[in-house]
Amino acid sequence: MADKRDYYEVLGVSKSASDDEIKKAHRKLAKKYHPDLNKDNPQAAEKFKELNEAYEVLSDKTKRQKYDQFGFAGVDPNYGAGQGGGFGGFGGGFDMGDLGDIFGSFFGGGFGGSSRSRRNAPQRGQTIQQRVMLSFEEAAFGCEKEITIQRTENCEECGGTGAAKGTSAETCSNCRGSGYVTQTQRTPLGMFQTQAPCPHCQGSGKIIKQKCTKCGGTGKTQKSRTLKVKIPAGIDDGQAIQLRGQGGSGINGGPAGDVIVTISIRPHPIFTREGSDVICEIPISFAQAALGDTLQVPTIDGKVEYSVPEGTQPGTIFRLRGKGIQNVNGRGRGDQYVKVHVEIPKNLTNRQKELLREFEETTTDDNQQQKKSFWDKVKDAFKGD
Ligand SMILES: [Zn+2]
Ligand SMILES: [Zn+2]
Repeated sequence: MADKRDYYEVLGVSKSASDDEIKKAHRKLAKKYHPDLNKDNPQAAEKFKELNEAYEVLSDKTKRQKYDQFGFAGVDPNYGAGQGGGFGGFGGGFDMGDLGDIFGSFFGGGFGGSSRSRRNAPQRGQTIQQRVMLSFEEAAFGCEKEITIQRTENCEECGGTGAAKGTSAETCSNCRGSGYVTQTQRTPLGMFQTQAPCPHCQGSGKIIKQKCTKCGGTGKTQKSRTLKVKIPAGIDDGQAIQLRGQGGSGINGGPAGDVIVTISIRPHPIFTREGSDVICEIPISFAQAALGDTLQVPTIDGKVEYSVPEGTQPGTIFRLRGKGIQNVNGRGRGDQYVKVHVEIPKNLTNRQKELLREFEETTTDDNQQQKKSFWDKVKDAFKGD
């Protein structure tokens, strides 16, 4: 692609050329390429225009400075708007002064052919993300929480117009309120039109003659707001609730944004959760497991009785139907699963040890069926040895 030529190159001078050198170079080349003297050479007209453009910038102290600092984009707000990229070097920390706005609109998606620099189009307000921490029970049964957010609202003084009380914003006469201007740009590839934000109204389509003193003409103000959030029973960790229209106020008459409340659930000391089921591990004694017992099992509704049978093995899981958590979509409840953990006694007294030894002497293969079965298998497997 034939890129736009560097202005210094066009004039054939160095970057440090004095004003006088620039003037002389321009005069010399202008004679050479003047259209009247080059009627048979269509390229001369192009060269002549290119030359005048370069001279216009380099002969003006301010423009030359901007050109030196920012290149073509520094002196032509349309530069880059029609050519899809090639603009990546910007965005550094330097002060772009009044160019800031115009660049800003390019970065906001203005690249590539159809220049979309209409900044007065309605836009949805800001979406605000907030996290809420719940206890296990609050999530299981639902609750109401308050959250405090910072959001952009329309200024109360001017109702969002940005114009001082008793006045109103006027439609920009330069762009007739559209917020953009169409410019015809000449490039080595031919003429084409680009749309750029209107420089008079900075793309808003409106001119505020007397700015609202409260918001300085922005029409917006930052507010801290406390919102009530209804948390449905059964909500799970990582799920989110959307508060429609509670986010930042819309721009140019667009709808307000949303508040997205994401749920975090604090771990419970004894319950864990899998979807709408509750899982809990209960330690029982060796004797309870062997003899069977009636346990007081904690559930989210309170304690319920459950009888473990004689000979309950470690790791046995029993289910308490419907003792889980409400399905968040409103249909039914999950179950509670209780896993039995048989605790082997420690720190035995001499008397206890004596009793256990005595007990052990009385046990038979019938008491310890797994043990017998295991050693039977060992015997079979190693028969040849
Ligand atoms: Zn205001
Ligand atoms: Zn305008």
